[in-house]
Parts: sequence; structure tokens; C-alpha cells
Amino acid sequence: MTREPAEPLRLDYLIKARTIYSMTGKTYRSVGLRGAEIAAVSAEPDGLDDLAGHSTAVVDASDLTLLPAFADSHEHLMEASRGTLLVPVDQARSVAEFSGLVAEAARDAALGRWILTSIGWHESNLAENRLPTLAELDVAAPDNPVLARRGGHLAVVNSAALRAAGIGPDTPDPPGGTIGRLPDGSRDGVLEGGAVYQVAAFAPGPSRAELAAALETTSAAYAALGVGTIREAMINLDELLAYQEARDRDLLRVRVRPMIRVGSELAEDAAIALIDGLGARSGFGDDWLRIWGLKIVLDGGVEGAALEQPYANDPGSSGHLNWDPAVITRVCVEAVGRGWRIGTHAVGDRAVRTLLDVYEDVVGQVGPLPQWTLVIEHAMLSDATQRDRAVRGGFNVTVQHPVLWNMGSEMLVAWGSERTRQVTPIDQWLAVGADLAAGTDVVRPFNPMTNVWGMVTRGTKSAGIQGPEHAISVGTALELYTMGTARLNHEQDRLGSITPAKLADLVGYPADPLAVDRDDLAELTPTVTLVGGRATHDPDKRLAGDRARAGE
Ligand SMILES: [Zn+2]
Repeated sequence: MTREPAEPLRLDYLIKARTIYSMTGKTYRSVGLRGAEIAAVSAEPDGLDDLAGHSTAVVDASDLTLLPAFADSHEHLMEASRGTLLVPVDQARSVAEFSGLVAEAARDAALGRWILTSIGWHESNLAENRLPTLAELDVAAPDNPVLARRGGHLAVVNSAALRAAGIGPDTPDPPGGTIGRLPDGSRDGVLEGGAVYQVAAFAPGPSRAELAAALETTSAAYAALGVGTIREAMINLDELLAYQEARDRDLLRVRVRPMIRVGSELAEDAAIALIDGLGARSGFGDDWLRIWGLKIVLDGGVEGAALEQPYANDPGSSGHLNWDPAVITRVCVEAVGRGWRIGTHAVGDRAVRTLLDVYEDVVGQVGPLPQWTLVIEHAMLSDATQRDRAVRGGFNVTVQHPVLWNMGSEMLVAWGSERTRQVTPIDQWLAVGADLAAGTDVVRPFNPMTNVWGMVTRGTKSAGIQGPEHAISVGTALELYTMGTARLNHEQDRLGSITPAKLADLVGYPADPLAVDRDDLAELTPTVTLVGGRATHDPDKRLAGDRARAGE
């Protein structure tokens, strides 16, 4: 038997950059990639030249600053992808535009195929300030059922949709709903309450293959903004299969770490049976698609968060909890016993306090758990006692400034200015030693540098600066958004920094984020993104390097 001589280490890429921030405190000038991994780094631009061979692409990136690709701790990639399959009527500014978008979709759709619209529209944004009519939708889509849902409680449909749902002139209204009529008694196509669901039940959602294709387009849009990994904040088991299909067909352009939803509508036994039936546990998968854990939703969002004090705009209400704390505790005990990590959505301070009770109870029953096993998602409102309890208990927190950025105006109305200033005080969490991971949660591709800008200025889209005393440094924001999420994902040895033997997930910027004026951060976008040593964003073909010219 002869032994093959050891392969000399030959790089696939040798990238020489202006600055390479490793996120471990070290700064380099060159980085070598081989296969999916980082092979070598050097503080000198020419320090790795000996490792370059004929097949190495030598990339002059002396005008770029490299960082680890961003790792989003909490974002809904599936929901964002699903949204691209809907007709974007939220962009319409008139009934004619609305109908035009539906007509365009109908032209492209197979005969009889349902046309589903986005739901985030309102007639007050249409010039005519009225709903589209059944007659208008019939003209736009004579042969395809149309379901135009508006929010959760109202929809407009065409005649084909009524026929497909078996609704005739004499069909009675369903419980808790109305099927609208014109004065002459004929149907007007407006559905309210339970009638929306009565029709929606006949409208098939996208197929697994369609979802997988949508994941490709949408994940590419995140990659183009510098994202390398997304912790997918909520999917069901069908959607997990769509992710697996996308993974198998090599369609994902970001790594995905899904959380599987355990719904509060389930009885305790059913929730535990669901977990039992998963047949896997946290960490199952590969570098591209690996299950993070379970997702529980304890309270609502800006308008349903469980608050210690009443709503500013509704003094009779302090929000709601979706779960009985005793039930959630037993479900968590069963889940961690089966090797599952749990992320629980808790936005309001009453939800955070309740969740701390639950998590403390769980640890009391099962003993200490590794960091990032019991996670608080959001904790938008919290007090000093709660923050201390979380740190002492070993419960980690994912933070998303973009929710304040996006919803600051709504928070001012619902929560008042004092509470809005105190939303997600990252500095206060860090001051007591919390281990945090940064993300977005805006359900659409969002520029990570706008998020960094928000964390360092407390700036928002339309509510000005909120709580500037809670600002953190650019370096800290970048760390929470790279290594922070790597720790959250239990992959700190594999992701999150530019270190040999870690995965080659890099992003290159034309300006140095640690040196530019803070206000220039918000608009800064990357020139290149690589995930696993492959370009996921390289519009200027910068990564082709010198290989071609070397005449290889
Ligand atoms: Zn979310």
C-alpha cells in the first residue's frame, strides 16, 4: 500500500482586501478560501501568496472592507418568500391599478387556478377610497377564482371564487361571518369574518415546489444585502419540507436555521405529541439547513403584547397571553428532555416576566441547561429586575432593532413615548452581562447596515430617534449580528468570524463600517457576499479574480 503524498494546500480564492475584520478582535489584509471553508488568514496582503496555485482566483479587493456575512437571529424568510407568490395589491394606488394587477396575474395563471393577493392593503390607500367590486374582479379575472384578503377579517372575491366555494344566492351566512349582497340581493363579493375562511378553505396554497422556487429568489435578495445565515423564526412541518426541497435542489442562497412552531391552539397533550412526532431534535441537518428548535408565541405584537401597565390608547387593556403558564412549563420540560431548544416570543414586559417564571420553573425541574437552550425572542419591554433574572437564569435574548425602526410610530400610539424610548435597550442588557444575538424580524429583505445604524443611533423610519441613551457601538452591533447569532445557533466554532476552519461566509463593503460617518451606515450596501466560499452576490464579477487572465 502506498500513501498518497499530502495534497499541497491550494486556495480556491485568495482575497486581498483593504481591511478584514475577523470579529475576534484581529484585523487581517488577506484571506484564503478552499472549498466551503476559510483556509488561512494573514495580516499582510501578500502573506498567503505561497498558497496560490494556477487554479487560485486572486482577487484584488484593496478597495473593500471584509466582515463575516451577517447572521440574522430572527427573521421570517418563509413568510417573506410566500409573500412573493401573492399579487402585490398593497402597491396599488387606485382600484384600476388593483384590478390591473389581478388581471396581469390571471393572464399568467393556468385556467381555474386561484389568484391570491397580498393582505396588507386598505381601500383608504386607493384613490376611490372604496373596495374593488365583484364586477371589477370578474372583468380582471373571468376564469380564475380571485381571493383578495384585506387583513384578517375581510376579503373581496369574484364570481369564480364564489362558485368554487359553492356559494350561491341562497347560501346562508356562516357563524360569525357575512357573505355580502347588493341591494338587489345578488352577491357583492365582500366577505367578512367567518365567511373569509369559508372561501379561503377552497384556495390551495402554493405547492412545495413553488415555495422552494420562491425561497431561491427571496434568499438571493437577502444575500445581496450581505446576509449569510437566517434563523427562520417560525415554520410548520410542510414548510420544513419546502426548505428541504430547496436545500436538495441547491436553491438556498443563505443558510437557514428553522424554528418549528408549537401552537397555543394545541391542547397540552397535542403539543407534546407534536414534539414527540418530530423524530429529531435541535441541531439536526447540515451547514445549509439545520433545525434550530421550537417556537412558542406567548403574547402579541405592538397591539397585543402583554403589558404590566395598560395600553396608552386603550386604558382598559393590557394585552393578552396566549398560553397558560402551567401548560407552557410542562411543554418546555418535555421538549428540553427530548433535546429541543426553545425560543419563546415575549414582547411585552408582562410576557417577559411570565416567561421568566416559566423558564426558572423548567430549570428548577430539569437542572441547568446549556446557554442558548431557553431563549427569549424580542423582550421589547423589560425592566431591570427582569434583565437580572434572565442573566442569572442563563436565558438568552434575541434583539431586533428593525421592529422599533419599522413600527416606532405605532408603538408611540399604543405604548406611549416613555415605553417606546425603552424598547429593546441593548446597552442595558449588555451592562448586566446578557448574551444577545441581533436580527431583524421585518419579514422582507432588510439592509443589515440599516439595522447597525439603528442600533448605534436608535434611529427609526418615521418616529425619529427613540431612547438615544440605549445606543451601542458599531463594533458591538456587528459582533451581536455575527458571533452573537453563531452562539445562538450553537455554531460559534463554525460560523460568525473570519477564522481558519470556519465556513467561508464573507461580505465586502466599499466603505469601512467602523470608520465611516455613522449616518452613512444606513445606506451602505455590499459589493460582494460569499456563503460557503461561493458568491451569492457579485454583480460586478469581482470574485473572478486574476485566474482567467493567467491563461490557465
Ligand atoms: Zn418574528
